[in-house]
Amino acid sequence: MISADPGRPKFPQTRESGLTQSPHCFLMLPMGTTHVQTDPTPAAVAAVAAFRDEFRRDHIGPRYRGWLHLAFTAGLCLLVIAACGASLQDIRPLEWLTIPVTALYANLVEYFGHRGPMHHRVRGLGLIYERHARQHHRFFRDDLMAYDTSRDFKAVLFPPVLIVFYLLAFAMPAGLMLAWLFSDNVALLFVITAVAYFLNYELLHFAYHAAPESWLSRLPLMERLRRLHTLHHRPSLMQRCNFNITYPVGDVLFGTLYRQPTDCEGSRQTDQRSAR
Ligand SMILES: [Zn+2]
Ligand SMILES: [Zn+2]
Repeated sequence: MISADPGRPKFPQTRESGLTQSPHCFLMLPMGTTHVQTDPTPAAVAAVAAFRDEFRRDHIGPRYRGWLHLAFTAGLCLLVIAACGASLQDIRPLEWLTIPVTALYANLVEYFGHRGPMHHRVRGLGLIYERHARQHHRFFRDDLMAYDTSRDFKAVLFPPVLIVFYLLAFAMPAGLMLAWLFSDNVALLFVITAVAYFLNYELLHFAYHAAPESWLSRLPLMERLRRLHTLHHRPSLMQRCNFNITYPVGDVLFGTLYRQPTDCEGSRQTDQRSAR
C-alpha cells in the first residue's frame, strides 16, 4: 500500500542528519565535487556478498546472458517505437502535446510505483515488492552499487517476459483507448513516448549500477542522477526519498528529493557552526 504519509518524510538524526532537502539543490549541485558512496563496513560487504551468491545460485541460470538481456530490452523497445513512428500521419499541432503529457504521466507512474508497491507489500503485486525491495536493494547498497559481471544484469533489468506483458497488458489497451477517444496519432505518440521512457529508465538504471570508474558513470548528468539513486539505495533511506529513477520530477513535486551536501558545503556548515 502506498505510504499514507503525504508530507515530508522524517529523516534519521544520525548518519543522514547531514542530508539537505531542497527541490532546487539538485539543480545547483556542482559537477564532480562530491560522492555518495562511503567505504562499506566488513559486515555490509559480507552480507551483500552472501546475498549475491544466493541470488546468483537461485535466480541466474547457466544459460543467462546479460548483454543479450540488455539487447532484447533495447531491441524490442526500438522496434515498437519504429513501427509506431512509421504509422504516424499528418500530425496536428495539438497532437504533439501527447509527448510531454505522456512523459509527465510516465514520471509519476515511476514515482508512485516505486514509492508504493515496489517498497510496500500490496496484495496481488507481491512479486514486484519481492523483486525490488527484497532482491534489488539487497544486491546493491549505497556503498556497494556496482554489479560484478554481466550476469548480474539480471538483478537490474526488468525480466523480458514482464516487458512483453506490460506492452500487451498496458501499452496496447491504453493505445487502443486513446485511438478511440482522440486519434490514431495520439495513440501512436502515447505508445512511442511510453516505450521510449521505459527504455530510458532501463538504460539509466543500468548505468547507475555500472562501475563508478566506467565512462557511463562519468557522464556529467549521469553522475548527478546516479548520486540520487545511490542515496535511495542507502538502507535507512530507501523507503523515504529519491523514488524517481530517471528525472526527479515526482520527488520535487512531492517533497522527497534529498541529496547530500557537497564536501565544500559540509565544511562551510561546520565553519559557520564553529564561528557562532
Ligand atoms: Zn537500483
Ligand atoms: Zn527502491
